[in-house]
Amino acid sequence: MNVIELTKELINKASVTPVDAGCQQLLGERLTALGFQVAHLRFGDVDNLWAQWYSDNTTALWVFAGHTDVVPAGDESRWHTPPFQATEKEGLLYGRGASDMKGGVAAMVVACEQFLAQQPKPPFNIGFLITGDEEGVAINGTVKVLDWLKERGQKIDWCVLGEPSSQTAVADEIKVGRRGSLTGRLTINGQQGHVAYPHLADNPIHRIAPLLAQWSALAWDNGNEFFPPTGFQITAVQAGAGADNVIPASIAVTFNFRYGTALTAEGIQQKIVEDLQQHQLDYQLSWHYSGAPFLTQTGLLLAVAQQAIVDVCGYAPKLSTSGGTSDGRFIAATGAQVLECGVSNATIHKSNESVAIADLYQLVRIYHKMLQGLSIAHDVP
Ligand SMILES: [Zn+2]
Repeated sequence: MNVIELTKELINKASVTPVDAGCQQLLGERLTALGFQVAHLRFGDVDNLWAQWYSDNTTALWVFAGHTDVVPAGDESRWHTPPFQATEKEGLLYGRGASDMKGGVAAMVVACEQFLAQQPKPPFNIGFLITGDEEGVAINGTVKVLDWLKERGQKIDWCVLGEPSSQTAVADEIKVGRRGSLTGRLTINGQQGHVAYPHLADNPIHRIAPLLAQWSALAWDNGNEFFPPTGFQITAVQAGAGADNVIPASIAVTFNFRYGTALTAEGIQQKIVEDLQQHQLDYQLSWHYSGAPFLTQTGLLLAVAQQAIVDVCGYAPKLSTSGGTSDGRFIAATGAQVLECGVSNATIHKSNESVAIADLYQLVRIYHKMLQGLSIAHDVP
């Protein structure tokens, strides 16, 4: 079965997070047939799959990672074809998950089949880490599988995620890192009162407003070679006692930082707290940390990937760290070299999501070439 047929089969299974609808069962069967040992790992309400092809004399581990879950179709009347029935039209394959990222998952499996048929004893182990909650809260997915691997003493050396990383042509851009994300939830307490008697009240909105203006205008850093300057955005502000003549007792503000390797979460948190204390505010503050920035700027993985793309596509990929977070952050945190290389992200999460059929074939060639490149470059320890 080629990559298009496998992608279609996956699209036809309506696996909206956290429902898997048999996607991982199908992948497990394919990989078992190839000689992989397959573990179906269910954590909470999320299905995950770990599959490993064992090499004889090495613990070196290459991993393809991705997710089988998809976001909901949304308003189905906006779709020209049924979202969960893969449809080929004018060189494109339509369906929810076509580019994010069932096409990528199918390409990994088919590339592996081709590679192992050609080279049955590569000098490294091959793993598949497939989760069902990448589009959800990401609690019972990749993180839990990584814990499970750690308990078994397994460490990932190189990991390629098949997330849609490209702009117009396949692999014209690959992600070699992602910014970190840090959310602050702040409440400033004041003293409720009548607007006509402000001296008898303490307006928490007035107290925090100058700081919010200051933080929004601040250059938190200048970025560096790999990351743009840190972004600070206020995402919610809530205050008011329900009447125009009342100074409210408190104001709640939520803000988010997207930051690179020029800053740390601790550095950001320290600055916020110092400012709050300097303004002598009565506050409560809590943080939600969704991942540190990661960067794979050198190493065997990047070298192998760049060479594979040049060989197959005839151009070198742009190395990027833009975009939202991905499960790459969790895998990179274990010390693995990580990058993301997949099809175009032009239609992801939209109505009429699609992928170019030619791009899927190209992606198979790229992944195949990466495996070949690694088996030449990697010295068996
Ligand atoms: Zn995705």
